[in-house]
Amino acid sequence: MTASAASRTNLLGLARPALEEYVVSLGSKAFRARQLMSWIYKRGVGEFAGMTDLAKSLRGELSARAEVRPPQVTSMQHAADGVRKWLLKADASQAFEMVFIPEPDRGTLCISSQVGCALDCSFCATAQQGFNRNLSTAEIVGQVWLAERELEREEREERASAAGGPGPLRAAPGAERHVTNVVLMGMGEPLANFRNVVPALDVLLDDCGLDLSRRRVTLSTSGLVPQIYKLARASNVALAVSLHAPDDALRDQLVPINRKHPIAELLAACWHYLDEQNGRSVTFEYVMLDGINDSPAQARAVARLLKGHPAKVNLIPFNSFPGTRYHRSPAPVIQRFRDELLQGGVLATIRRTRGEDIDAACGQLAGRVIDRTTVRLGSKLIQVAVQP
Ligand code: SAH
Repeated sequence: MTASAASRTNLLGLARPALEEYVVSLGSKAFRARQLMSWIYKRGVGEFAGMTDLAKSLRGELSARAEVRPPQVTSMQHAADGVRKWLLKADASQAFEMVFIPEPDRGTLCISSQVGCALDCSFCATAQQGFNRNLSTAEIVGQVWLAERELEREEREERASAAGGPGPLRAAPGAERHVTNVVLMGMGEPLANFRNVVPALDVLLDDCGLDLSRRRVTLSTSGLVPQIYKLARASNVALAVSLHAPDDALRDQLVPINRKHPIAELLAACWHYLDEQNGRSVTFEYVMLDGINDSPAQARAVARLLKGHPAKVNLIPFNSFPGTRYHRSPAPVIQRFRDELLQGGVLATIRRTRGEDIDAACGQLAGRVIDRTTVRLGSKLIQVAVQP
């Protein structure tokens, strides 16, 4: 019997143990899950009929009941600097975004974990749209699977037009990947969607899955302290934390979750994470807001918090969006802030802003409510989704 589209099992949502259980439930041996994963993730194949080393009966069962279904692309934009932003469909009225950032030595994919966000950081575009829903494991893994497939297709088409004929399919498993690094820095708070994010991380790291090294997968959190402790037991990816202020009074304003989990508790959780997972260092993100958190005295205060710990600070020039009351700190102010950190004994870098012409930079991912009404409340623009 053939399952209807709605009742098919999406294999992108199953980490290895769950996939093993699933193939056993179809009457096959557990080790078939590895072969299946190799087709899906190493070769980027989503149709079961072509998985020639699987028994015909298993291929038949899978074709009838399962699928490999990534999120549906609503639109794709290509920036002048090579950055791509995809708008992906969450349901009839909501969308979420992912961004690919090519660099000479790597390709970083920035993925979303939720549609919207509940945390309400005052300088973030995603916060303005409120929280809609968690993404499923399949939608999180599916972003990486989809991006790799789309980039591969693009490259094949370019080769074909250069050579005047169709290029070959990916030659072999393990052939060079476009996506070498994944950051959970798109829309949403990944630790607020722990249940779906952790199995997705498992697939990203699994050597039968996307096979990324733990240092090339980074989860960024606004500071959900209990979930950082929980993550230390469940995964070992690199951790990034949105600090943005040197003291609780200011951080309470910028990152409201700080009222519940203040800086001292947050830092203790970070050091615990490194101890548990034998990690190298935590990256602290710090958005540079003109006249708010960017003074040399504030830089020295950040250095005092982090000095002597395995920490790096990544300064993010604020990216503007409609309706925000903040401005980006001038470049010399950002450089001075970095220098104060370095003099204070803390490693610091300035993040280069990419994809600005397509609003693909940090904190600009607002998704798009496909069907929306815009209301104005004071100076703040609020987009209200119209439920279908
Ligand atoms: N919820 C996670 C992931 C968010 S996005 C977190 O808070 O860490 C990744 C980074 O972009 C976070 O550090 C976030 O604070 C920052 N960010 C948000 N809005 C921004 C903006 N408008 N300009 C620059 N960085 C921004």
